[in-house]
Amino acid sequence: MSFGHLDLSRVVGSGEYSDMKLVCQGCEFKVHKVVVCTQSPVLAKAIQGVFQESRTGIINIENFEPSTVSRMVEFLYTGDYGGLLFPHTEASRSDEIKKPALNDITASGMMLQHVQVNAIADYYNIERLSELSRSKFQQACQATWDAQSFMDATNGALDLSGDGALHEVIATEAAKNIHTLLEIDHFAGIIGDFGTRVLRNCIKKAEVDRYKVIQLQLDLEQEHSKLQAAEARVDRIIENIGRCLQTMRERGFCRNHSCMAEYQCYIERRGQSFEPVYTLRCAKCKCRD
Ligand SMILES: [Zn+2]
Repeated sequence: MSFGHLDLSRVVGSGEYSDMKLVCQGCEFKVHKVVVCTQSPVLAKAIQGVFQESRTGIINIENFEPSTVSRMVEFLYTGDYGGLLFPHTEASRSDEIKKPALNDITASGMMLQHVQVNAIADYYNIERLSELSRSKFQQACQATWDAQSFMDATNGALDLSGDGALHEVIATEAAKNIHTLLEIDHFAGIIGDFGTRVLRNCIKKAEVDRYKVIQLQLDLEQEHSKLQAAEARVDRIIENIGRCLQTMRERGFCRNHSCMAEYQCYIERRGQSFEPVYTLRCAKCKCRD
């Protein structure tokens, strides 16, 4: 979301003109209804309805970590999240000042982070954040594939997020790496023993089919070479016959000096059966032309 020349990160960081608070495990995020409610119909409903939240302007967030809330706030103000936890968000506790801890970002942490953001986006119905978190999740999977981290993130996604599109992304990535995943007990734990059997058989069948396709490609290439060779032979035979016809047209007498008969010839066939070679011979002295 763009507000032109306004530095929105400074506005939310300082809490200036804030008219709404998100509170998560004692951390406060001083935000603005115009920014938050225009992007989350769920938070808009909560703050505008007849609920206690609409009187106090405070929304308590219980199902998510402060670090995840921070990323959501960062997105609401900047359209992105992730480089840093929203650095200017003074998430403070009244009794104990505590900023959300910066996660040390391992591959596993990275994927899980995007799953958590996806879950909060799904919960508060922030569609563009759902999309962004899915795309970041996919990038993280592809950048550093690690089966165990992927499984942790998959567990998290299935537990935390109802976003079917994220589940689809995970299923797609799982399919790409199915051989390594099938070696992990944890994976069987998720899809079940029967699911594992079905998958193993699908893979076996796909391998047989792939082998057949390769074989067919080789056969096709071989047939193509044969066809090319046959076409070349036909060209040579036609050229050979052409030369014979030309000789018959042009020659008046046998070229053999001791014969010199008026030229009458017959055709002799030599060569292989698949590529005959035609030669003219004088009918009188059998001299080859
Ligand atoms: Zn002759």
